[in-house]
Amino acid sequence: MIVDVSICFKKRRRGSLTDNHDPNAEAVAEKAKASAARTGSVPNPVQYLYKTPKTLLNKGTGFLAGYSHSLNPYTGCTFGCSYCYVRQMPVSTFRGAEWGTWVDIKKESAAILRKELQRAKSKGSVTIFMSSSTDPYQPIEHKEQITRSLLEVMADDPPDFLLVQTRSPLVKRDIDLLSRFGNNVRVSMTVETDLEHIRKHFSPYAPPIPARLKTLQALASAGIPAQATIAPMLPSSETFAETLRPLVDRVCVDDYFMGDGSGGRRTKNLDIRSLYAQLGLEAWYHPSAYRMVYERLKKVFPEDRIYISQQGFEP
Ligand code: SF4
Repeated sequence: MIVDVSICFKKRRRGSLTDNHDPNAEAVAEKAKASAARTGSVPNPVQYLYKTPKTLLNKGTGFLAGYSHSLNPYTGCTFGCSYCYVRQMPVSTFRGAEWGTWVDIKKESAAILRKELQRAKSKGSVTIFMSSSTDPYQPIEHKEQITRSLLEVMADDPPDFLLVQTRSPLVKRDIDLLSRFGNNVRVSMTVETDLEHIRKHFSPYAPPIPARLKTLQALASAGIPAQATIAPMLPSSETFAETLRPLVDRVCVDDYFMGDGSGGRRTKNLDIRSLYAQLGLEAWYHPSAYRMVYERLKKVFPEDRIYISQQGFEP
């Protein structure tokens, strides 16, 4: 769903956003650094469990209704982003352990997917979103190679379309496989902001922004279709759009209010607003805030290459 924002209100909020961000950039950076220091840079110990799933392909529903299936190589996610709404879903709440501190590794995934994929393709078009409730490039993927094994299966027996949603530079390792999908794949690289101190404030255990930008460069050099996904949109600089322009030919902007699957309620329950308040950037936590980033993107990207919320994730 795309939120329509009135022009008058948009202008008022845009002014407010600019006032809150740019003139105080140094002060905000200092607050964010202090916050990152408080948060610490070492994640909690992670508990890994091996599990053999009954199924891997799940029906695409809700936000992913445009897909026939979603595919999650892991359960749990060590990036543990503060704003991650999966924290509030049964997969997390029934676990009894903090989101970000555990990961289940799905054993025998390749064999299971091979069978399921054949069956699904015999019934019609297969479009796959990987992944909806974890990042398919968990740090443990370096060793386990579950995601790589799934890509091998899909490269041999391709679905009609595959979207790989990640924020990890590890996706570069699989360029050889991704190149076999031609135009039937898109890597959607999350880049919520261009400001590393903002990333550390909201998502201290996720990969650094410069590494993600380099990954987009590598994907472009290899000819792999990709987009920069500004989601959830975090406070960013005025030059964010210019930074992205040489790296991608399409961008997607999404925020908590459009993209958390509950009109922003899940995010409200997580009290993410307080993280903005700590930096004096509450104006960025607003349903109209994305319009400012959208206007900046419009100056450097063709309008038909800027996607809003769900449309940016469609096959
Ligand atoms: S990377 Fe995605 S799934 Fe993992 S914690 Fe962050 S938002 Fe949640």
